[in-house]
Amino acid sequence: MRRMRICKRFICLFSALALWAAAAVNVSAAPAPAVRGPVAHEGKKLVALTFDDGPHPKYTAEILDILAEYGVHATFFVIGKNAEEHPDLVRRELAEGHEVGNHTEHHYHTGQIGIGTLRRDMEACEATLLAVTGQRPTLFRPPEGVDNAAIRQAAEDMGYRTILWCVDTRDWAHNPVGNIITNVERNTVNGSIILMHDFIAEKSPTPAALRRVIPMLQASGYEFVTVSQLLAG
Ligand SMILES: [Zn+2]
Repeated sequence: MRRMRICKRFICLFSALALWAAAAVNVSAAPAPAVRGPVAHEGKKLVALTFDDGPHPKYTAEILDILAEYGVHATFFVIGKNAEEHPDLVRRELAEGHEVGNHTEHHYHTGQIGIGTLRRDMEACEATLLAVTGQRPTLFRPPEGVDNAAIRQAAEDMGYRTILWCVDTRDWAHNPVGNIITNVERNTVNGSIILMHDFIAEKSPTPAALRRVIPMLQASGYEFVTVSQLLAG
């Protein structure tokens, strides 16, 4: 009888330990969800503009001029090989108070490559940005916004937070300027992360749209911050 009680106690203890271990493994195995926004925070109305795929010699310079004109800060998710070709533009982004994030070295089609290739492409972009700016980025945006646990885990292992968006201007689809404005006006709320691009192909509608998006949101009481500032509240 006594032996059975000891045995039962042992089984209980073992089960509790097994449950605890499973929970611990589960917690450490699950990467944090990607940040899409709107990001909840106290106080002011904040919004974060993000620009992907640069730097581009013509359009990034134009975008930086417009941001400087209105005195607002944004976040640039740059492609490493473009940063190698135009390092001065990346340095200008940081010098003017903007944030720079990792958007991989080559911008492969994320859904069509293995996680090992993606990791190496993230590392290559990080090395490029470190060489160009002396700083290591802390934010990662997967090319084409592909979001799954393996990608987020890779980013987390490298010390990144994965950042997506909640307002897609669809400038990448060469959306006419008027449509971009309407899209932003209808969908932006406090804490939104807005997706725009330095450049896609041919003539970009982004700078012309930006000239209207910034004053429109400022008139609605929004303050523009970088993604890290938005996350910090
Ligand atoms: Zn991209």
